[in-house]
Amino acid sequence: MRFEVGCPCCGLQIMTSEDIASMIAVRKDLALTSFICPRCGSRLAVMTGMPSCLNRVPAGPSRETIQVYLDYFHHELEDVESVDDAIAEIDGYLPHGD
Ligand SMILES: [Zn+2]
Repeated sequence: MRFEVGCPCCGLQIMTSEDIASMIAVRKDLALTSFICPRCGSRLAVMTGMPSCLNRVPAGPSRETIQVYLDYFHHELEDVESVDDAIAEIDGYLPHGD
């Protein structure tokens, strides 16, 4: 990925992703990216596209896995009549120290 970044002292500089000093995500596809000018050392900040390698959303559990958990909790709590009963039911599954 190449970036053309204008330095007020040195003019247009060509940078690569290896020249990125910092990056702040503004949106899913947009970032405020800073570079250090290779000629004068000034910090230069520009808006850039988000590199595709950082634009991936990690996969969560599948719908089938979520449904298995929902079915489990529905089954375990189907006889519960109130929130207090639900808390008592859940407390029965938690370790109580010692
Ligand atoms: Zn410069």
